[in-house]
Amino acid sequence: MKTVPDYFGSMVFDDRVMRATLSAEVYRSLKRTIDRGAQLDSSVANAVADAMKNWAVSKGATHYTHWFQPLTGITAEKHDSFISPSPDGGVIMEFSGKELIKGEPDASSFPSGGLRATFEARGYTAWDPTSYAFIKDKTLCIPTAFCSYGGEALDKKTPLLRSMEALNRQAMRILKLFGHTDVKCVRTSVGPEQEYFLVDKELFDKRKDLVYTGRTLFGAKPPKGQELDDHYFGVIKPRVAEYMADLNEELWKLGVLAKTEHNEVAPAQHELAPIFSTTNIATDHNQLTMEIMQKVALKHGLVCLLHEKPFAGVNGSGKHNNWSLATDKGVNLLTPGETPYENAQFLLFLCAVLKAVDDYQDLLRIAVATAGNDHRLGANEAPPAVLSVFLGDELTAVLDAIENDLPYNGTGKKLLKLGVDVLPLFVKDNTDRNRTSPFAFTGNKFEFRMLGSANSIACANIMLNSAVAESLKIYADRLEKAEDFSSTLHEMIKKTIKDHKKIIFNGNGYDEAWIKEATEKRGLLNYRTTPDCMPHLLDEKNVEMLTAHKVYSESELKSRCEIMLENYNKAVLIEASTMVSMAEKEIIPAIEKYAASLAEAALKKKALIPELECAAEKESVKTLSCLADRAAEGVKELKDSLTGLVGRNTEETAYAIRDAVLPAMSRLRAVADEAETKTAKEYWPFPTYGDLLFSVK
Ligand code: ADP
Ligand code: MG
Repeated sequence: MKTVPDYFGSMVFDDRVMRATLSAEVYRSLKRTIDRGAQLDSSVANAVADAMKNWAVSKGATHYTHWFQPLTGITAEKHDSFISPSPDGGVIMEFSGKELIKGEPDASSFPSGGLRATFEARGYTAWDPTSYAFIKDKTLCIPTAFCSYGGEALDKKTPLLRSMEALNRQAMRILKLFGHTDVKCVRTSVGPEQEYFLVDKELFDKRKDLVYTGRTLFGAKPPKGQELDDHYFGVIKPRVAEYMADLNEELWKLGVLAKTEHNEVAPAQHELAPIFSTTNIATDHNQLTMEIMQKVALKHGLVCLLHEKPFAGVNGSGKHNNWSLATDKGVNLLTPGETPYENAQFLLFLCAVLKAVDDYQDLLRIAVATAGNDHRLGANEAPPAVLSVFLGDELTAVLDAIENDLPYNGTGKKLLKLGVDVLPLFVKDNTDRNRTSPFAFTGNKFEFRMLGSANSIACANIMLNSAVAESLKIYADRLEKAEDFSSTLHEMIKKTIKDHKKIIFNGNGYDEAWIKEATEKRGLLNYRTTPDCMPHLLDEKNVEMLTAHKVYSESELKSRCEIMLENYNKAVLIEASTMVSMAEKEIIPAIEKYAASLAEAALKKKALIPELECAAEKESVKTLSCLADRAAEGVKELKDSLTGLVGRNTEETAYAIRDAVLPAMSRLRAVADEAETKTAKEYWPFPTYGDLLFSVK
């Protein structure tokens, strides 16, 4: 039997394959490009392309594709075969350096938010050598960035790479000040924990809402939901276990470090966490993971739901973005060190994150904003829409002592002097893990918990990296000019704590009282919905920061704001139309049919036994007829709200959706869900929550 190490990464053109298939000289050049972003000359590119092709063909591949991440949030690929005609009438398999480095997909149908005029439909894809190529479905997939003719980014990878570079630049300045002249670069690492639901494919197919929108738009609460908490970490059912085993194998072949899997809080909900890797690769791998999860599910007669809120009243799915930064020497900069000096450095990086989260609460909120995620944030199951940072009692006490020049208990009643005292090691305390914080320090990393399950992790990391780069830049600017390094450092840390401690919150983030305190007392932002937050992407301070670090150009930001709102609008409008159709074609007819059958039965009974009252039937028929009428009214109201959108621009449409369409959708749903509870099971036109959530054994 083949063991995991035998096949791990077998479909990846990784370092092992590069070493084995490239000449020493070509390998060295390519490594320089990967590690330091050096230009690759064309002879090297040709040699790499040829080796890649030979390797891919030997693995059965016939095609290649530039694999990219347009602003739709999913990946895109256009396949070309390697074949090239030979004079003798046959074909040879060819792949040139040029084809490896650059592609020209017809990009006119990808969102560009006005960046690409229609007459210039061309877009370019450019090879990202820092993420390994891999084979999927007999196709060599080359991770690429995607940009317009004018060089503006049309994807998520480009700004992500730029944000990593920005953070690297600033962190290097700081490390130099601390005397780390041997460090060559600083990289951010991410381990995204991915939540998902599994439902039976046959049941899924019977629900138009799931098929068209990925979430249920109707559905009464089942008698049993998640109240027993018996699913969390529960025994994995055989069908699910088979799925997970198969999924792991597929992911391992692709070099994805799938590590942990368990059942989540809601029935039918599960989680998969990989071992962390460099942000760029973690992002590619997360996209790949989501795709493979869905593909493997189909093989098992299942459907993997990645939507943030597939079921109302049942926990939705998120993605925890575990984030840290480390040097090329493998030193995690968010780990308290062993010497006083290292501790000061640790505190400075910690402060940089605190300041970043506080100063750019809006950008972090924007980074996780989608129509789907709006259903989760603040719904007592996911962190609220208000950003705050959990540090734990110990670390908070340390910061408190520094801010107020007070003795810190942990170090034996003496004043905590930066650069002199050793801090305690902040090990992750499992008993005191705060699961309700949107942004939690967990010993040597931060866990950003607001991301939705379906979203690419790129956006969150772009904003996080950029904001932290900005804090570090401000620090480096001051420290480089400081006459007395230690005292300037101490003052800066003190000032950061004073200015930004309002973002620290160690309590229960789900508590209503916290939202009140956060918004009223602390003045933290609370953007509840996507239309509430998205326009703030273009606030002056945000544009200034993101352009200064060269993460986005101003026009790229404008286009992104437009596209994100457009995506929101489209998602909700598809849901609204699906609701109308389900209500008109399935739900109302079902209620009417059941009511008619009851009426008929009553008439028959009465014909048989004239003195019967048939009170129950009469009552039910009355209730059902009334519900059918209310549902019809609900449909009309929803349609009217949609008509109200005509002629509005993207932003106005988003507001009208928030204020009129979504409320009309909830009202229609409430009536339909009530009708479901009053209608006999055999008359209800599609599987119920109970069927869906408990179907997979
Ligand atoms: P949980 O949060 O469920 O208790 P862990 O803390 O063990 O789980 O890890 C969750 C995720 O965090 C994993 O994907 C893991 O690889 C990742 N992780 C661990 N250390 C780091 C780090 N230094 N930087 C980024 N991610 C990390
Ligand atoms: Mg976690």
